[in-house]
Amino acid sequence: MGALQSSDIARKDRIVSRNPANGEVLGEVPDMTAAEVKAAVERARGAQVGWGALPVRERCDRVARFRDLVVRRAPELCDLISKEGGKTRAEALSMEVMLIADLATYFCKRAPKILSPESISLHLIKTRASYLHYVPRGVVGIIAPWNFPFGIPAGELVMALLAGNGVVLKPSDIAPLIALKCKELYDAAGLPPDLFQVVTGRGPAGAALIESGIDYCIFTGSTTTGKKVAAACGERLIPCTLELGGKAPAIVCADADVERTARALVWGAFANQGQVCVSVERVYALEAVHDELVEKIIAQTQKLRQGDPAGEATLDTGSMTWDRQVEIVEERLKSAVADGATIRTGGVRKGQGLQFEPTVVTGCKQDMEIMRKEIFGPVMPIMKVADEEEAVRLSNDSHLGLAAYVFTDDRQKGRRLAERIEAGTVMVNDCLLTYGAPETPWGGVKQSGIGHTHSDRGLRDLCQQRHVNYDRLALKRELWWYPYSDKVYKQTLKLMKWIFR
Ligand code: NDP
Repeated sequence: MGALQSSDIARKDRIVSRNPANGEVLGEVPDMTAAEVKAAVERARGAQVGWGALPVRERCDRVARFRDLVVRRAPELCDLISKEGGKTRAEALSMEVMLIADLATYFCKRAPKILSPESISLHLIKTRASYLHYVPRGVVGIIAPWNFPFGIPAGELVMALLAGNGVVLKPSDIAPLIALKCKELYDAAGLPPDLFQVVTGRGPAGAALIESGIDYCIFTGSTTTGKKVAAACGERLIPCTLELGGKAPAIVCADADVERTARALVWGAFANQGQVCVSVERVYALEAVHDELVEKIIAQTQKLRQGDPAGEATLDTGSMTWDRQVEIVEERLKSAVADGATIRTGGVRKGQGLQFEPTVVTGCKQDMEIMRKEIFGPVMPIMKVADEEEAVRLSNDSHLGLAAYVFTDDRQKGRRLAERIEAGTVMVNDCLLTYGAPETPWGGVKQSGIGHTHSDRGLRDLCQQRHVNYDRLALKRELWWYPYSDKVYKQTLKLMKWIFR
């Protein structure tokens, strides 16, 4: 075996980012050590002191400058997101860049109100009153996945900054360049340079971030890694938000508008090449509509224009992002076919890179792997069910509960069914959309996560919520203080009988 060359060491310490649609090398980033990660957290902590002391209004004005740059430099951002992740420019714009422009606008306007002290009137102890006030946590560690490399961490960044925190972001090693672009825009907006740091690296850099003294962790990724993150945070008693995997069911009732439903499902299953935590991953179609629905879904799917997203802006679907994920999709399909399901369209790779044809699978059964494990690729498995009861029961028969969808012409019934499904978000007659509505909470139940991002409560979670209780009347003494006496006992008893009469 030859001696290790210094060029090998340099290569080992670096992560290469490639365009998944054609293999082109886009750049390299360092695989940072635990010491480098810790140093970044310390720098952010130093800068946070001054930032956290600013009035919320002022923080909003300054973060709004970052928002302005996101809007101004949108084409450049879309180009890089599309190149590094393989998604079309249309999706880079609508699902990532515009989402951040809107989220930042919403929270820059609303944060002063959301984070203002909240009074609590005491229903029994009228001599005293309480309020909650919101204090920055310190340094928030963000560990991000590769499927929305800008839309996910940039939203969390904006919220954490508005809440007065410093931020250290560990992007996925599959898509690190867009995180560095985010930092470039942040710096160009004139925000305090050390307050926001990006640490590039693989899984161990994420683990190091949790061990580096952060005060809060927002993790978005698989349920498997999420459990390790939860354990590491638990060991240090660091509060965390966990946004994990999904297996979203879609129930199609007999009274659904079949044409509209087919369009919605095709988008919901194949947007971003199905690499969305809330992609439609199981369709339960009632017998009465099943065959017509399947025909319409296949026809719609076959019309999708796929290619290298660097080409035309008119493409509907581009490339998957990661070679290992393509293999997982192929494994799921192989197992489904072996178990008796039928691939009705798609099912193969095309082009030079990681393009995988949008795929529709019918004849699925609940116990098949394809109906139980996350696919995270452009595959729509469809199963025929007898009635709505069976559809609800099968939807809930999963260890995951991130999102679900119900399609029906009867809106009231839609809401009734939605309330029975065990998922963090259920949409009636549409899919995916609400991650783009920053005022709504985002989070899963069961093994899809803990806590929420987005929404007023998501912003408050990025603060310590501290309670102050104060006296409203200057009394010489309180009824419950020493010395205890028979007289006070009897008076209290009388008072109790009167209050709880
Ligand atoms: P992973 O769990 O593989 O990785 C997520 C992040 O964690 C990456 O930055 C990864 O680094 C890092 N990481 C890996 N190991 C550790 C560790 N031991 N400690 C700390 N950090 C670590 O997820 P993917 O990136 O593959 O993302 C896909 C998954 O994310 C899917 O399951 C999807 O459903 C879920 N997801 C959930 C969302 C939600 O809102 N609920 C939204 C989007 C995706 P590296 O990549 O460098 O190894």
